Amino acid sequence: MTGPSLVWFRKDLRLSDNPALQAAIARGGPVVCVFIRDEATSGALPVGGAAAWWLHHSLAALADDIAARGGTFILKSGEPPTIIPDLCREFDIEAVFWNRCYEPEAVARDMNLKTDLKDRGFYVESFNGSLLREPLEVKTKAGGAYGVFTPFWKALCAMGDPPRPVAAPDVLPGLPTDRSGDDLEDWSLLPTKPDWSGGLQESWSPGESGARARLSDFLESSVARYGDRRNRPDLDGTSRLSPHLAFGELSPREIWHIARDAAHREGGQAESGIWSFLREIGWRDFNHNLLFHNPEMPVRNYNEKFDAFPWLDNEDALKRWQKGRTGYPMVDAGMRELWHTGFIHNRVRMVAASFLVKHLLIDWRHGEAWFRDTLVDADLANNVANWQWVAGCGADAAPYFRIFNPIGQGEKFDPDGTYIRRWIPEIAALPDKYLNEPWTAPDSVLDEAGIDLGRTYPKPIVEHKRARERALSAYDEIKGAA
Ligand code: FAD
Repeated sequence: MTGPSLVWFRKDLRLSDNPALQAAIARGGPVVCVFIRDEATSGALPVGGAAAWWLHHSLAALADDIAARGGTFILKSGEPPTIIPDLCREFDIEAVFWNRCYEPEAVARDMNLKTDLKDRGFYVESFNGSLLREPLEVKTKAGGAYGVFTPFWKALCAMGDPPRPVAAPDVLPGLPTDRSGDDLEDWSLLPTKPDWSGGLQESWSPGESGARARLSDFLESSVARYGDRRNRPDLDGTSRLSPHLAFGELSPREIWHIARDAAHREGGQAESGIWSFLREIGWRDFNHNLLFHNPEMPVRNYNEKFDAFPWLDNEDALKRWQKGRTGYPMVDAGMRELWHTGFIHNRVRMVAASFLVKHLLIDWRHGEAWFRDTLVDADLANNVANWQWVAGCGADAAPYFRIFNPIGQGEKFDPDGTYIRRWIPEIAALPDKYLNEPWTAPDSVLDEAGIDLGRTYPKPIVEHKRARERALSAYDEIKGAA
């Protein structure tokens, strides 16, 4: 008789297209599923409040899905290198399976654990469960890693479709559940005093079925116009799948195949929208690839020239940026959307991030830490690579001297001011003409709109033109560096 297998869930909180789970079931025998709350060795720096809220609901959904199939799901806290061997003893486990993570510390920990378990006589196998292709699969002609997205994407597409996803099992052969394990409620992942999660609850449905519903809705209603509308924060034009992907509630390979099948069926505009969308999923792979090959990226500039950049230490400005009180409506709207829903539209992420690093000259690492703490989709690879990209020091980055004008960005991408009015109600009554630069409105217009500038809404923290010049001269200081 085949003995029990252990499946260690990490960033793959789903039953569909889960290669580790599939392998355990295929082996035969009972399957014990475990999730370990591990803040010490995961390498994925501490989980912020919004992501903790998500994790709670995602684990609750996974627990229900496993229970409905007769499976066993255990929660544990502590260090996996100790807990996994303990569980193996407790359940007489013979084989251990997991899907790989790509954060530098997770890679090192998992390699050591694999060796240790094998030395103890267990069968151990790991899989790709979270990328279209793994970092070591997509190589340049010379066998190296890509540092530029377009050739990376071409090479990835040239490899053909990734393997087809595997459906969720109907039945999970479990073991009796009167064994040890934590209670999810005891992890206190949800905010209590105060409970600030109302905006998250209105915006999201964590869990595999929520992810699937989100994908179908996006493919049915928005994908055909994705190419035109993906930069518009005032429209519901993107998939909002990022937190579902960050927690692994849907695999990118499954998204790829569902989207490709839809493209074949629909053709025309839908097909082109689907390819633009899949290209973004490609950016996700690219960023994981970058982090895997450059493990110091979370703390060091990819482009070392920026090590000498004259960042300013300005606690007050950082706080105003975090709270959405810079006086630049497009930036403030984004930072308030983030605070309320744990999410910011990509275009506004770029504008707000650029404002921090270029208008305020604050080190990108402060912005990265704030996003990591507040985003529901906080993901080390995507967050770090995108922050470095915006700051100009990342791989394939926008040139530093291209400085977003927060006024022009608002006028272009939120043309009717719907987004700004939603998140900054205190300036909603301003005519469109002044909405992105309230300080230019005559006193009579401000009075009529009920705005007392500097009191009900801040005056601009810096003057755009002067801030731009200051950023360019700061860049001049490092331009020539080796
Ligand atoms: P869609 O436009 O529907 O795209 C589909 C999917 O493609 C996304 O869900 C995401 O997984 C991926 N994707 C889209 N854009 C990017 C991108 N620029 N880089 C990598 N993958 C992308 N994304 C995160 O998932 N986690 C983060 O912590 C994160 N931090 C960011 C920080 C900054 C400063 C910036 C500029 C971007 C960051 N992004 C991050 C990327 C991007 O903003 C989000 O993935 C996107 O806004 C999610 O919305 P969506 O699911 O509707 O995207």
